[in-house]
Amino acid sequence: YVKAKGKNNYHLFTSEMQQHVFRKMMIEKQLRTAIESDEFELYYQPIIDLKTNEIIGMESLIRWDNKVLGRVTPDELISVAEDTGIIIPLGQWILKTALKQTAEWQKQSHKQIMISINISVKQLLDPMFVESVKVVLEDVTIDPSTVVLEITESIAMYRETMIEKLNALKNLGVRLSMDDFGTGYSSLSYLNKYPLDSLKIDKSFVLEMIHDAENKGIVKTIIAIAKELNLKVIAEGVEGQEEYHFLNTIGCDYAQGYYSSPPLPANEFKEKWLQLI
Ligand code: C2E
Ligand code: MG
Ligand code: MG
Ligand code: MG
Repeated sequence: YVKAKGKNNYHLFTSEMQQHVFRKMMIEKQLRTAIESDEFELYYQPIIDLKTNEIIGMESLIRWDNKVLGRVTPDELISVAEDTGIIIPLGQWILKTALKQTAEWQKQSHKQIMISINISVKQLLDPMFVESVKVVLEDVTIDPSTVVLEITESIAMYRETMIEKLNALKNLGVRLSMDDFGTGYSSLSYLNKYPLDSLKIDKSFVLEMIHDAENKGIVKTIIAIAKELNLKVIAEGVEGQEEYHFLNTIGCDYAQGYYSSPPLPANEFKEKWLQLI
């Protein structure tokens, strides 16, 4: 019996692994032509000032519908794009599309609405990255101080080179935000050396906050760290009214989450959040 069970487990394991590898290969194959065939779309989710309840900006989030694979999650898509190097052209497309869209909305609304764009560590490691950001900023003619690049704590592995790179980006006039803060392993002493403007508290802490003293404590501590380092702080994954109000009372600056709005396609976003038609 034990032997049979062991054998079954073995088979289950390999077939799961095969499926995983197969799926990655499928995604990779489809990814190679997806930019040209215009299969990607950016959704936008509002970021709200907790003091005024007004929108101050939005985060762009990629969506991919593929005819063979259906909808692929951003996490899955980005991880394959990183492993294959496709993240470089894809990241360029994302940057250009988000900045073009934002520049248009800024003109139409006469508001300096901010755009937050997720940047993969693989993009940061590309020697051409800083120059390519500079070129897109100029092409699109957008005020760089309205552009926020979201990076993650995985940059901690590259320390000195990364600090230089981030300083070069700051010199272009853009802002930098540490995304998913609290889930990685950047040391606090290094955090101070990165030229950051804001921290985003990872949604895992925010989602469980109200009924969980430990997560509440973590959220409060991250806000205290942010204040200490003179950084703005954004909570992501704010799903309920209770969380939204609690975050305001403990000094969080901005909120992002389903409580305000899910990420929306561009045309819906501009209607609902920018009152543009
Ligand atoms: P992220 O940058 O931390 O983005 C926040 C994620 O939380 C998004 O997931 C968003 O849809 C989701 N979210 C927003 N509000 C709520 C809420 O109230 N509750 C819950 N449970 N979730 C909420 P999404 O769109 O699936 O993206 C997942 C991750 O994929 C992103 O996490 C980011 O790391 C990556 N990603 C997405 N778009 C891009 C992109 O254009 N470039 C890069 N490099 N990565 C991207
Ligand atoms: Mg993000
Ligand atoms: Mg995040
Ligand atoms: Mg995330």
